[in-house]
Amino acid sequence: MEFRIADCKARAVRIDVLTLFPESIEPFFSSSIIGRAQRAGIVRISCTNIRDFATDRHGSVDDRPFGGGPGMVMMCQPVFDAVQKVERDDATPATRILLSPQGETFNQSLARELSGHERLLVICGHYEGFDERIRLGLEPREISIGDYVLSGGEAAAMVLVDAVVRLLPGAVGDEESVEHESFADGRLLEYPQYTRPRVFRDRPVPDVLLSGDHAAIEQWRQNEAILRTRQRRPDLLE
Ligand code: SAH
Repeated sequence: MEFRIADCKARAVRIDVLTLFPESIEPFFSSSIIGRAQRAGIVRISCTNIRDFATDRHGSVDDRPFGGGPGMVMMCQPVFDAVQKVERDDATPATRILLSPQGETFNQSLARELSGHERLLVICGHYEGFDERIRLGLEPREISIGDYVLSGGEAAAMVLVDAVVRLLPGAVGDEESVEHESFADGRLLEYPQYTRPRVFRDRPVPDVLLSGDHAAIEQWRQNEAILRTRQRRPDLLE
C-alpha cells in the first residue's frame, strides 16, 4: 500500500502508554496498521513500565486498601512519577487519559476527537484500580471501553489506540475506507461486503455488485446499510 506524504501530518502524533505490563501490548502496537503507521512516521507509540518508578526494594506499585476489602490498589507515587517523567520527555502537552470502567464510554466519535490531539498519555490500571488521588491529582479524562470489568487497562489501551490511530491521515491506505464504514457518520452500520469467489457453497454474490452500474451499487449499499441498522441497532436511527 502506498503512503501519500501529503496526507501525513508534519509531526507524528505521540502516544505514551503507562502500564505494568508493556510486554503484553508492545507486539500489538508494532503489527498491522499501527505498526505500519509508526514506521511511516504518522504516530509514535511508547510504552513505559510504571514499576520502573517504584521506590522500595520490592518494586511495590500497589498496596492493600484502607478500610479493608479485597484486592490491591495502585499507589499514587509510582504513577505520578511515571507521568511526570514521560511528560517531561517531550514539550508537547499531553491529553491524559485514565482507563477505567467508570469513565465516559468510548465510541467512534470520541476516537475521532482524540485523533485530533497531538499527544495522548494513556494510563492503564490493574488489580482493584487506582488510589482515588491519582484521579484527583492528575485530572485525566476517564475513559471506559464498555460496561464490563477487565483485569487491567492493557486490552482497553489497545482498543483505544487502534481506533484512534487508524483515523490519523495516511494510516489506512485508502482514505475512503474510514469515511464510509460503520459509525463513520455517527448513524449507519456498514453495508455487507463480498469478495471472490462469485459463488461460495451455493451462495452467490448479489447481482447488483457485478453489474458495473455504480449508481445502482451505491443505492443498494445505502438501502442495505439502513436495513441492517434498523434490524441490529435501531437506537442509532433515533
Ligand atoms: N475495582 C474497579 C475495577 C478495576 S479493574 C471498579 O470496580 O471500578 C482494573 C483496571 O482495569 C482499571 O483500573 C482499568 O484501568 C482497567 N479496566 C477495567 N475495565 C475497564 C473498562 N471497561 N474500560 C477501561 N478500562 C478498564
